[in-house]
Amino acid sequence: MAAIPTLLPSHEFREALRRRGGDTASRCFQCATCSGVCELAPDEAPFPRRLMLLAQWGQAERLAADPAVWLCHQCNDCTVRCPRDAKPGDVVQAIRALVIEKLAFPGFLGRLVGAARASWPLLVGLPIAFWVALLAATGHLAIPVALPQHWAYEQLVPHVLIYSVFFPAAGWALLAAWVSGRRFWGLLAAGGPPVSFFGGVVPAVSEIATHKRFASCDAARPRRFGHLTLLWGFVGAAVTSGLLIVGIYVQHLAMPLALTHPYKVLGNVSAVLLVIGATVLVANRLGDGRKAGAATAFDNYFLTVVALVIVTGVLSEVARLALTPEFALAVYVVHLGLVLCLFLTFPYSKFAHMLYRSLTMVHQLGGAEASRS
Ligand code: SF4
Ligand code: SF4
Repeated sequence: MAAIPTLLPSHEFREALRRRGGDTASRCFQCATCSGVCELAPDEAPFPRRLMLLAQWGQAERLAADPAVWLCHQCNDCTVRCPRDAKPGDVVQAIRALVIEKLAFPGFLGRLVGAARASWPLLVGLPIAFWVALLAATGHLAIPVALPQHWAYEQLVPHVLIYSVFFPAAGWALLAAWVSGRRFWGLLAAGGPPVSFFGGVVPAVSEIATHKRFASCDAARPRRFGHLTLLWGFVGAAVTSGLLIVGIYVQHLAMPLALTHPYKVLGNVSAVLLVIGATVLVANRLGDGRKAGAATAFDNYFLTVVALVIVTGVLSEVARLALTPEFALAVYVVHLGLVLCLFLTFPYSKFAHMLYRSLTMVHQLGGAEASRS
């Protein structure tokens, strides 16, 4: 006779879940109302009731390998309908934060960002202090006497200094994301049917680009606009940064670019998308009671840093055109510090949901592709 596995509730996991705002899981009495209302749960593997049970029993390993954790879009329709006020939407959100911490490379950085409430000043302050120290050490903290009327930030902070910081930072973030992504993919693939990774990439990218799944959930539709706008704002900003490198080092364009230059237009349109997207998401977070879900320090950290990056980015441009160079430089240094903070904490903050949700979709769609072929 096969041995019956023994499952012991993990006090440590439940304590971690409580710290992340998921302590209401213990109220769940498994009625399955939540799985019945979730429009994103597939018929063959409904959620979130299953996740609530795994959370109650402290099954951290099984939760880390469960794709449902990332298929949930946190519309909180289940939370509104739960007869026990167990807040399954918030619990799944807390589980996501714990999975990010569990898979983080190196682990101590995952724990540091995970303890966002205590580590905020360090996470945000250190990168800003780093930029101040770097500019002071290289003699770029003072405004040049011969600064022309139409000046560019390059004349205050040379591009070579910026790239010498951001290229290694981006490289580090990509390495950490790669290691965590490999760990996650291994968990998803373990013991399951074959999956075509490349067969899943194309449909997953198409779904992400349009946020098709958001549209299939009535309750998540209001957040879709903000999410999608923010996504395309980030894409536009990244493309603009790449084009600027080409413009400076290949095309040898004179800086600052005219406001009508295509690169400038793309940059400004991206900034507008970022402002709109962040505003919609912050408004959503602040309003609508239970539907908005619990605001944890982990969530607030990410949203706040994104909002501050956008505000200081826009303000830098306004200050360059209309305010004093001293004020503009101060805002720009804060902006550089916040962008560095965003880069370095990407694999450990809520930003990492981009990585895990994308891999989950690739796995799901790649599995469907493999079963067809
Ligand atoms: S979370 Fe609420 S709705 Fe879902 S199974 Fe538990 S008690 Fe029922
Ligand atoms: S929050 Fe929305 S998407 Fe997530 S499990 Fe609940 S109903 Fe489904």
